[in-house]
Amino acid sequence: MGQLKANGKEVAHETEGDIVVINTCGFIDNAKEESVNTILDFVQKKEKGEVKKVFVTGCLSERYKPDLQKEIPNVDQYFGTTELPALLKALGADYKHELIGERLTTTPKNYAFLKIAEGCDRPCSFCAIPLMRGGHKSTPIEDLVKEAKSLAAKGVKELILIAQDLTYYGLDLYKKRNLAELLRELVKVEGIEWIRLHYAFPTGFPVDVLDVIREEPKVCNYIDIPLQHISDHLLKSMRRGTTHKKTTDLLIKFRKEVPKMAIRTTLIVGYPGETEEDFEELKQWVQEMRFERLGCFTYSHEENTHAYNLEDDVPEEVKMQRANEIMEIQSQISWELNQQKIGKTFKCVIDRKEGNYFVGRTEYDSPDVDNEVLIDAKAHYLKTGEFTQIKVTEAADFDLYGEPVSVEAILN
Ligand code: SF4
Repeated sequence: MGQLKANGKEVAHETEGDIVVINTCGFIDNAKEESVNTILDFVQKKEKGEVKKVFVTGCLSERYKPDLQKEIPNVDQYFGTTELPALLKALGADYKHELIGERLTTTPKNYAFLKIAEGCDRPCSFCAIPLMRGGHKSTPIEDLVKEAKSLAAKGVKELILIAQDLTYYGLDLYKKRNLAELLRELVKVEGIEWIRLHYAFPTGFPVDVLDVIREEPKVCNYIDIPLQHISDHLLKSMRRGTTHKKTTDLLIKFRKEVPKMAIRTTLIVGYPGETEEDFEELKQWVQEMRFERLGCFTYSHEENTHAYNLEDDVPEEVKMQRANEIMEIQSQISWELNQQKIGKTFKCVIDRKEGNYFVGRTEYDSPDVDNEVLIDAKAHYLKTGEFTQIKVTEAADFDLYGEPVSVEAILN
């Protein structure tokens, strides 16, 4: 979008326009279905004359281009994940190398995702991402600092660091894992108040990152570490390079080194060969670990992955049932943890106003996936995009309710 804007094109995200670019996901069944449905919707609009051209890019297109060209030929052109210059050309724009890092973000003004590496070198059996994104490639620290400065100059206050494998950062470029060093540089960027870490792979976790989280106030007390499962034989089959014991030891270390940190994880249920015993072990462990945040996915059998050679032997309804059970356990944990927040005051960022509420977040919550703090907009006026102190007055399973305690918060 930044490249198009620099070429003098008018560009908008998810609003009407006569040339449409659909950025697709090809990771798991649900995402593929959503992508295909979106393509079909816009092809229909094109047939009705409501849009002039439809282009498709992203991971689905990278993975299934020949099939898509055959099945949905009314798309003007399909592009893979590394074909940005060709896509721009089709849109009548020139790719400008010097614009790397220049972005037009689609998130609320106060936060932006900062992708610190592309691709993945891990061999996880269930995962199609390396097929679509290729091997791990870290972006140099100085480029990321430049990008962070440019985002901060546009009003971004929170950077959400992402990559397919965040904790591998630096191994290719610097021959060592140096996420910690990157963080120490990013905290120097003026205007950035929060830095948040997503997708930290557990195996080989660089423990010096914990020191940075503890010592640097700008680095949120938050980590998202997808753990997928806990049963040893499934972890082995998933080729995660870790075990029940090692995973638990790592989490114990997290709790010891950074006691205030909120830990988010994601799990997969219904992986081939997951028995009732494996699932019981997983449930028990979720109860014990008391993650602050947790998401649970059902296994999706993806062609060309290693696990595709295994039999997808857990019926779909059992997968769903197991995912629901895990989320029920987590609801209770989340409710209990939230109750402990009542009466306490947190620095919150106000992301948006929705209906009768201002919607904010604490440093323990990432946008879209975690808890939110709701503040009655009929009783209080708050500025979106700003930080403010909020006292929690009520707590539900996943959301908190609160009121501002700062002087700036003016009562109507
Ligand atoms: S680390 Fe993540 S992106 Fe890489 S193969 Fe494993 S699940 Fe896929």
